[in-house]
Amino acid sequence: MRGLLRAGGQTTRSEGYNAVLAMKSATSDELWMEEALRQAQRALEAGEVPVGAVVVCEGKIVGRGFNRNLLDGDPTAHAEMMALRQAAQALGNYRLLQCEMYATLEPCPMCAGALVHARLRRLVYGADDPKAGAVHSVLPVLNQPALNHSMQVQGGVLAGRCAEMLQAFFRSRRAEQKG
Ligand code: ZN
Repeated sequence: MRGLLRAGGQTTRSEGYNAVLAMKSATSDELWMEEALRQAQRALEAGEVPVGAVVVCEGKIVGRGFNRNLLDGDPTAHAEMMALRQAAQALGNYRLLQCEMYATLEPCPMCAGALVHARLRRLVYGADDPKAGAVHSVLPVLNQPALNHSMQVQGGVLAGRCAEMLQAFFRSRRAEQKG
């Protein structure tokens, strides 16, 4: 703080760097979620259900994905699966022990299962999915006592924006179906 309060208004390079780091740690989940939202936007533009995900490893994005069920004609082509595949290829390892996933929506049972297979360290998601969520909403898959992998989980990050994108998509689809 002393750098910010100094009367002269000048900070040394290291003080400025520390201030940036402090700011970043307070909001880094939101910053990565912004990247996941950008992926969701790509799904929206392709006419897909707007869900996006990124995999972050040691401060870098190593996998990105958005829903592409229609584009690929593939029932498994969920945003999280796409991001996991890209991350595993980038790292040359299907175990993603040091990685975190940021997903705009609570993952479904398939994707939550894949996160367990990948031994992901942490999952951060935006909106809850009351219809298919597999963290806590419908069918809890993560952190089952019978499974020997435990994962840190944080929900509700930028949840309003993540949910709004989905709601707007389904509203416009219903309007199209009526008209
Ligand atoms: Zn899924």
